[in-house]
Amino acid sequence: MSLIGILNCNKKQLIQQFNNINLQKFRVNQVLDWIYDKGYTTFCNMTNFSNELQDLLSKHYYIYRPKIIKTSKSIDGTIKFLLGLNDGNTIETVFIPEINRNTICISSQVGCVVGCKFCNTGYNGFKRNLTVEEIVSQVLIVKDYLNSWNTSSNIITNIVVMGMGEPLFNWNNVSIALENLQIGNSQAISPKHITFSTSGIVPVLKQIINNLDYNLAISLHAPNNDIRSHIMPINKLYPLQDLLEVCKLYNRLNKNKLITFEYLMLDGINDSETHAKQLVKLLHGIKCKVNLIKFNSWEGDNFNGSSMDRIKLFQKLLNNSGIVTTIRCSKGQDIMAACGQLQSQVNIKMLQ
Ligand code: SAH
Ligand code: SF4
Repeated sequence: MSLIGILNCNKKQLIQQFNNINLQKFRVNQVLDWIYDKGYTTFCNMTNFSNELQDLLSKHYYIYRPKIIKTSKSIDGTIKFLLGLNDGNTIETVFIPEINRNTICISSQVGCVVGCKFCNTGYNGFKRNLTVEEIVSQVLIVKDYLNSWNTSSNIITNIVVMGMGEPLFNWNNVSIALENLQIGNSQAISPKHITFSTSGIVPVLKQIINNLDYNLAISLHAPNNDIRSHIMPINKLYPLQDLLEVCKLYNRLNKNKLITFEYLMLDGINDSETHAKQLVKLLHGIKCKVNLIKFNSWEGDNFNGSSMDRIKLFQKLLNNSGIVTTIRCSKGQDIMAACGQLQSQVNIKMLQ
């Protein structure tokens, strides 16, 4: 009998499985408490269980962790983790400490199939979806590393699914993982503090936007279809008019929520005054804010980021038209941990 990765299961599935091996429902809560509130990685230290129960659990389940292959620390405190998976693939996860919050940026796939021209992850191609345990354990292993399990509150206050991959192409696993990360008393993360970003996979968005608990960010990056299709080929499949229609539906279904549009400022491509005006028109009638992103360069990229003066002018034009607009300067640039810089070219076997 092969072992089941317990992090792969949500609570409902575990209740069913425990029932099959004659364990009562309250055992599920106890086990989940050890795993998600105390960070245990084996059953044999779970002291409120008899030896028989510990053995039974070990016979059926294991508690997954990837290997930390490398950590890089930025001068701004950001830590990037290169994690090794069982099949030799690697992914990157980033811990971003700030004054009043600590955010973890997690990956949803090994690589990405979407292939946006400005993104290092996309440039390196797609390998596979991450499993639920590979997504959940990115958060748990960072807590192991920071030695932060025995604290009364969670050291990680926010999760952003903005690492490698397109979360909506792996939503089944991402959504179970996010559900599991809300387990626990002191260590649970509220859905209000979870944000996922998508390049705009319209049919999947349509399916999931009804009463979505998480915050939604959309990688827009262009004020019209011509530019967007040029830098984000996915736009040919799901053009702006379809994407914005689904955004309006999201607004209607989630009355108190704003959509964040991410807009990468690329010199000479999407950063002129005309583009700002087009963007204002495009977003008319949508409850949203815009996050202007400074381009983070990587080896082999074909773009130049806009100057700070241009970004500020663009921001002013949007703000003056009533669109709340902020500028995001990504953390961890010196260690290649910023937006769009993550990659997974390293395979564990190459390091051996
Ligand atoms: N695949 C999803 C989730 C990744 S989030 C998505 O694209 O939305 C990563 C964010 O960083 C996205 O908004 C992405 O467009 C942006 N990004 C990609 N490459 C970048 C780069 N070189 N510099 C700055 N931001 C970049
Ligand atoms: Fe994929 Fe997002 Fe990068 Fe585009 S920006 S290639 S969707 S990870």
